[in-house]
Amino acid sequence: MKDIATVATTDYILNKYNLKALKKFGQNFLIDSNVVTKIVHSQHIDHNTCVIEIGPGIGAMTQILQRFAGQVISYEIDTRFEPVYREFLDYPNVEIIFGDFLEVDIATKVDELKKEYEQVLVVANIPYYITTRIIEKIILSGAKVDAMLLMVQKEVALKFSGDYKSPLTLLIDYLGKSEYLFTVSKNVFNPRPHIDSAILRITISREYDKKLYELLEVAFRQRRKTIFNNLKEEYGDARHYLEEAGIKENMRCDQLDISDYLNLLKVIGEKQ
Ligand code: SAH
Repeated sequence: MKDIATVATTDYILNKYNLKALKKFGQNFLIDSNVVTKIVHSQHIDHNTCVIEIGPGIGAMTQILQRFAGQVISYEIDTRFEPVYREFLDYPNVEIIFGDFLEVDIATKVDELKKEYEQVLVVANIPYYITTRIIEKIILSGAKVDAMLLMVQKEVALKFSGDYKSPLTLLIDYLGKSEYLFTVSKNVFNPRPHIDSAILRITISREYDKKLYELLEVAFRQRRKTIFNNLKEEYGDARHYLEEAGIKENMRCDQLDISDYLNLLKVIGEKQ
């Protein structure tokens, strides 16, 4: 079977099935099989791995993932690709589910898959306008995914892997880590986007802690306020809690790191 992620095969598929990339679904197809291989090889994937793919498009990544993984389950919103899947992705270990990934009960799905597979991964080249929503959805659902390999805008990858702090990035610091793996040139997509992309890996090695996320959200309610002012509305004796946790009350939410928040959570837990 020919690689889908080439200029020629992508043109062949788009012409044969009379498909145009739709902006509303953020469609940019990968046309470089070396890049696809590099993405797939950046994570150990074997027959004990189930990959959940978001947005397979015409199957550029699905086809390569399928060679290594025990199973690939791909969620695609655009039903126009159905005939492409019949021609190119007719493998026993590939399942395509049509629908909006944002609507899927991902935690339940992953729980089921974890009974069968040692590792469950999310791999996605997702539309940029829903990147954060997708990451948030997976993390906040508590889905026991082992890692996510995500093609995102370069700036987004830098933000997640760098020092930028938000409730979500701090929660990820607690659950595992975010890494900037490598840059992906805009030239390897059809149609070509305006900016470069990057592969972001989020590894999860702990269980989601709802109380921690709630505390982070309260702390970040108004970024420019002090931690004390943000906390006092929600947690009665905020001054005392901060003092016991060894945090100065005039600090701002993004000057603290995850270990500060964990101390604070512990103090609040003991007092309430
Ligand atoms: N993975 C392919 C296609 C990437 S384009 C490749 O790398 O070549 C992004 C894909 O996500 C498109 O196929 C688009 O239809 C799909 N998509 C967009 N929004 C989606 C959603 N909410 N749920 C599932 N798929 C979605």
